Amino acid sequence: MPRPAVAELRDPVSRVPGVGPVRAASLADAGIETLEDLLLYLPFRYEDRSSVRPIAGLEVGERCALEVKVERVQRVGRGRRARVEATVSDDGGALQVVWFRQPYIADSIAKGDIVWLFGKVGEHEGDLQLVNPVLEKGGGLHVGRLVPIYRRIGKLTPGVLRRLIDACIDLVGEVPESLPAATRRRLGLIERQAALGGVHRPPDDADPRVWNAARTAAHRRLVCEEFLAFQTALQLQRSRATSEAAGRPMAFDEARISAIREALPFELTSGQDAALRTILADMGGRIPMHRLLQGDVGCGKTAVAGCALLAAVTGGYQAAIMAPTEILARQHARTLGPWAASRDVTLECLTGNTGAASRRRILGALAAGELDVLVGTHAILEPEVSFSNLGLAVIDEQHRFGVRQRAALRAKGGANQQQGWPHLLVMTATPIPRTLALTVYGDLDVCTIDDMPPGRQPVVSRVVPAADWQRVIEMLKATAQRGEQAYVVAPRIEEGDDELAAAVRLEADLQRQLPGVRIGLLHGAQSHDEKLAAMEGFRAGEIDVLAATTVVEVGVDVANATLMVVGHAERFGLAQLHQLRGRVGRGSAPSTCVFLAHEPLSAMARARLDAIRSSDDGFVLAEKDLMLRGPGEVLGIRQAGVAGLRVGDPFRDHEWLEATREEAERLAAAEDDESIDYRRRVRRYWGRRFATVQAG
Ligand code: ADP
Ligand code: MG
Repeated sequence: MPRPAVAELRDPVSRVPGVGPVRAASLADAGIETLEDLLLYLPFRYEDRSSVRPIAGLEVGERCALEVKVERVQRVGRGRRARVEATVSDDGGALQVVWFRQPYIADSIAKGDIVWLFGKVGEHEGDLQLVNPVLEKGGGLHVGRLVPIYRRIGKLTPGVLRRLIDACIDLVGEVPESLPAATRRRLGLIERQAALGGVHRPPDDADPRVWNAARTAAHRRLVCEEFLAFQTALQLQRSRATSEAAGRPMAFDEARISAIREALPFELTSGQDAALRTILADMGGRIPMHRLLQGDVGCGKTAVAGCALLAAVTGGYQAAIMAPTEILARQHARTLGPWAASRDVTLECLTGNTGAASRRRILGALAAGELDVLVGTHAILEPEVSFSNLGLAVIDEQHRFGVRQRAALRAKGGANQQQGWPHLLVMTATPIPRTLALTVYGDLDVCTIDDMPPGRQPVVSRVVPAADWQRVIEMLKATAQRGEQAYVVAPRIEEGDDELAAAVRLEADLQRQLPGVRIGLLHGAQSHDEKLAAMEGFRAGEIDVLAATTVVEVGVDVANATLMVVGHAERFGLAQLHQLRGRVGRGSAPSTCVFLAHEPLSAMARARLDAIRSSDDGFVLAEKDLMLRGPGEVLGIRQAGVAGLRVGDPFRDHEWLEATREEAERLAAAEDDESIDYRRRVRRYWGRRFATVQAG
């Protein structure tokens, strides 16, 4: 039966000539089921095979395209090991060509044929030779132009994909426009048809650099199209959440807010103040807050969260804050406790180590509505923990929690679900650009504390060769003599080696080399009581030097600590180094951070250490990290899969993400037919994806 002439974008890939059941299955595994999916499978790079060279001028090592006549072709040997040898020529010379393991080539070309070749010029017994070049009879698809290179899918090679996609473009013919005309005009986007043609069939005069950087009008159109749909879907998602589940608007007045501020032992910085105002404005609204508070290590996010917690209580609700470690939860309880007490707010701390009797009492009070604020670890997510009236949930160091845990805390909205969702505030010291946060964290609003509490002294950072350990010992001694304190952090040395052993060894070394200095030990494998004792001892100033594993990495706050020594600093990521350094410089005395480097250093490790030494700005370091690691992963957050994007790259295409945000807001709300129709299509596409993508 003849194929119908014109195919629709939503037709199955099996309509493309050359795609049978086996290839269709491979494509389906890669998420490509329709013609549209196939057309949106973009090349990851382009290879310049456009300029055809004469044989006469060729040099060993260069990659070149040739248009030549076959003078001789011959199969040598048999079976899979057979090779094909040929001689080709142009006006100025002749060249030997050999193909290994592609015996069928002998049957596809014959003496006298004009063919195109692309490959790297090699040498064989003194003669120039092309080995395994790309061969094309007419030219124009695989050779003789700027050629799109596709990532292999299963057994489908880049060459096969190129042929299938090229055939698909012809099959589809006319591609309907998918964006409202006004949107396209406002963003200056070319038509969909031209864009799909452009990315797969670059024009003759295409500049390879621009194409390879994905900075063409064609790329821009397709990336913006995807970002628009994604962001519009986020907007729709949010407005649905809003209409289905109202929040818990809280009434505050200025007098109440200033009373809360007065409970703090210091004045908020202007950055903290602005963040708090934004948060309180959210909490005063009918729509549940869904906000990320970011700010560099040590900027004082806890104080802002504390004010919000107290505000929720004065507004008539319970509030909770969850931290990733027991140490951090206890520290929060200790910091927030007195502020709460001074406003007659009750506060308790719940962790996996809370005794049975206390736990029973806390859970009882919580359910009865007699307890106002609960501080804790993920222990507060257990099913037995139920609030009578949770109005605000805060998650500290949120990147340490999974999406499900975030959702679980929010779902603790109390028995009375029709009252709607509690407000949610998540905090992180892992700074990422605002628009990136949008894709990484879904539909969270973001605000940033961009200043530091007054009186902070910049931490002096030094990279010291591990061989200079004696110098470190002297620094530790001097620190203890000044009545200040120090951390020495030892990482796991090798895979399989436990951190614990490293820390224990370190403690023994320090005991021996620092007689008279009080050394403590803190690591993850200690019992709860041991950990608590070490941390409390350090906080109380009874321990001078704390030998630790990376448990001290997040959040720990001891202002009298002025020296941080990071052993094997070359093994840490930039974000971790920055977090560790952030443990000092919290008081008014000058602080130092020593990064011990063990040779030999990889180029990457050297670049990281250079970066950490030359900047103490978390945002600058985040960008460096991005540059060093490439767009795949930044600060532990995997980009792929988070958002389900396949054309746009939120890192590479950051500025386009920004450019489309406002338009997406418009599309989500506009009432003209085109916009309504657009929303219907966006819902259809993103609806099912969000089920797995939503960030709680
Ligand atoms: P982070 O943002 O890293 O969580 P913390 O909340 O632990 O930072 O605050 C770091 C330190 O700064 C704490 O000791 C806190 O008491 C102090 N601090 C926070 N805000 C202020 C402020 N406005 N003025 C003075 N000190 C502050
Ligand atoms: Mg913190």
